Formats: sequence, C-alpha cells, structure tokens
Amino acid sequence: MPRRLRITIDYNRCVGSGICILTAPNVFRYNDQRQSEVIDPDGAPEGVVLEAAQGCPQVAITVEDADSNERLFPPADLL
Ligand code: SF4
Repeated sequence: MPRRLRITIDYNRCVGSGICILTAPNVFRYNDQRQSEVIDPDGAPEGVVLEAAQGCPQVAITVEDADSNERLFPPADLL
C-alpha cells in the first residue's frame, strides 16, 4: 500500500503559477485567492506529487510522510 502523504502549501510563498495544478490536477486546485490548495493528497502517485512540489518555482509545497512525519520535499538546503 502506498504511504499516506501530508501536503502543505505555504501561502506566503505561493504566487498562483498553477504549475502544481497542471502536474497533478487531482491533488491541487485554485482556491478563491487564486493560490493552490490541496483537494486530495492521494489523488496522484507519490512520484507525481513530488514532481509537482519540485516544479514549484516558489518552493511553496511541502510533502511529508503523514505517519512518520518524515519530510520528503523540500530538502533542508532549499528552504
Ligand atoms: S506551483 Fe507553487 S507557486 Fe505555483 S500554484 Fe503551485 S504552490 Fe503556488
């Protein structure tokens, strides 16, 4: 079974580029402020979620293992 992910958007960083939404449209969508919000952390395979986080130009997306709290992205040197 795939591990459960916790996906967090930093609203001080998100500029609404929409890249994450294009990459994983079943995970992210625009909210009323035209920033990204998570609709379903299980809406795409882990690799696609990580691809979306890595593609964010603002490093606004944090992905963690929901059970162990291990941070999968971003690495410390990107923060
Ligand atoms: S890719 Fe990053 S900046 Fe663009 S909408 Fe998603 S979270 Fe916001």
